[in-house]
Amino acid sequence: MTYNKSTTIAIIGAGASGTACFLQLVLKHIVRKPANHLRLIIFEKRTKFGEGLAFGTGQEGHLLNTKAGLMGIFPHERMHFVQWMHENQDLIARKHPQVSVHPDAFPPRMLFGEYVQDMFATHRQLAEQHGIKVDLVSSEVVDGKVGRDNKITLITDNDESFQADYSILATGNPASNSFTKLLKQPNFFPSPWPSSRLLKHIKNKKARVSIVGSSLTAIDALITLIDNGHEGPISFFSLKGLLPRVQSPVEIPYQRRILTLANVRKSIREKAKPLRLTDLIRMFRQEAESHLEKKLNWVAEEREHRDQLALLEEDIALATGKQCLLQNILYSLREETYPIWRLLPVDQKLLFLKWIKPYFDINRHAMPIENAIKIQKVLQSGQLKIIGNTDDIVWKAGRFILTTDDGTSNEADYVVNASGPTVVVEEMIDQPLLPKLLKRGYIEQHPAGGICADLESLRVCHAKRKSPSPYYVIGHQLAGLQLDINALWFNVEQADILTDDLLKNIS
Ligand SMILES: Cc1cc2nc3c(=O)[nH]c(=O)nc-3n(C[C@H](O)[C@H](O)[C@H](O)COP(=O)(O)OP(=O)(O)OC[C@H]3O[C@@H](n4cnc5c(N)ncnc54)[C@H](O)[C@@H]3O)c2cc1C
Repeated sequence: MTYNKSTTIAIIGAGASGTACFLQLVLKHIVRKPANHLRLIIFEKRTKFGEGLAFGTGQEGHLLNTKAGLMGIFPHERMHFVQWMHENQDLIARKHPQVSVHPDAFPPRMLFGEYVQDMFATHRQLAEQHGIKVDLVSSEVVDGKVGRDNKITLITDNDESFQADYSILATGNPASNSFTKLLKQPNFFPSPWPSSRLLKHIKNKKARVSIVGSSLTAIDALITLIDNGHEGPISFFSLKGLLPRVQSPVEIPYQRRILTLANVRKSIREKAKPLRLTDLIRMFRQEAESHLEKKLNWVAEEREHRDQLALLEEDIALATGKQCLLQNILYSLREETYPIWRLLPVDQKLLFLKWIKPYFDINRHAMPIENAIKIQKVLQSGQLKIIGNTDDIVWKAGRFILTTDDGTSNEADYVVNASGPTVVVEEMIDQPLLPKLLKRGYIEQHPAGGICADLESLRVCHAKRKSPSPYYVIGHQLAGLQLDINALWFNVEQADILTDDLLKNIS
């Protein structure tokens, strides 16, 4: 086929989000047969295309935190990963013999990474068969200038430059922005990734290791160490000292009657006022109490300053027995979280992030039971301690001193920062592209984190720029606007919206 025009789309980052966009661009271009020739350039700074940070961990013990039946890489085909596992039973029997291919299972994340890489490779071939040119560039994009003609020039870390008509920012999770004063210390790890770095440097299996944070990422760091024979004391050192709750092996459907999108919209309409966070908290409490047909003692539900082992044991019992109602309510909100989040004004979003998110996260991003049992064991044996109410760490005389609010000091030979990725663009020091784009005025920081974009198209927007941006964005950089960016199924559906809009420009 001969074309009059050619369009180049660059995808920056080939993790799950970038790959989901790639698959959609290829499939839609083939199906819609537009008049333009398509060239795709995909940039990835890791060695492999298609696995990304979460699914390229290299550790069998790092499990999906989401059941397999939600993990399809194609929009609205959530079972596709499970189907792929069924079709690849030989590979699973050979490489991951313990893995269940059930939709409710939580397989290793590296197996999911193999699936995404497989889809990447298959669709690369398909693209070439249909005349779509696909160039893979194994470099980091460090700058992206926009010319007067609105075309982009992308510059890589080895000083190569590439022209594109559009570019998708799919750069994923940056490192944490906390404890930057410790970056120069050789025994400080700014992030638990890659796991191989922890294992390479912490050679002394009896060393004292402090992991900053106590969320799913901290649990991954712990599992990296104990699965590889670490015997020394480990502590989770965090502001709140809260562990994620435990997911039931089978998700229990819950029919919400009060905290629904319809009721949220009704409340805005009847009060003729914007939604407030307190409206949502009230509805959540009413939802739980109406289900239980009694008032709940909400103070007794608080989990800070309590014995985390006792709480974990209660949570394991709930997950395998009579279930946790509060968790079931939040899991049942999966499809409505984002539309409700969009209705919250910015000041209320900020209140949520400051006061509610840690409690929302431990319930909504709970750990699989397999991990809960591992943590129970190391808490029981005393190898793991959870220390809350602290963010004070200094390096002194060859070891770290970690001090809690009450003045108690703890020592560690190594500190691993697992306190979660920053959402402040200027502080994304390990992703120099984004601060650069901010400085050039191409992107704008959203007050609740990440950058501003039009949510109907995922096209980057900037209050001061008139011409439509040639940049699109997906994933972590939309943390403030979308909240749910930690869920693959969500990002995959966003890839559908993004690629629909992008391809409209060239049809
Ligand atoms: C530890 C962890 C566990 C998770 N577990 C789950 C789970 O079980 N289920 C679930 O649904 N979600 C999970 N998530 C969320 C998951 O990250 C998202 O669902 C989704 O996979 C994010 O993919 P991504 O492509 O946006 O980001 P990433 O996976 O971070 O990929 C971004 C890619 O871009 C590359 N890159 C970045 N900047 C550049 C640049 N300038 N030039 C070139 N390349 C660049 C990076 O090397 C990386 O490969 C988890 C997240 C983490 C961090």
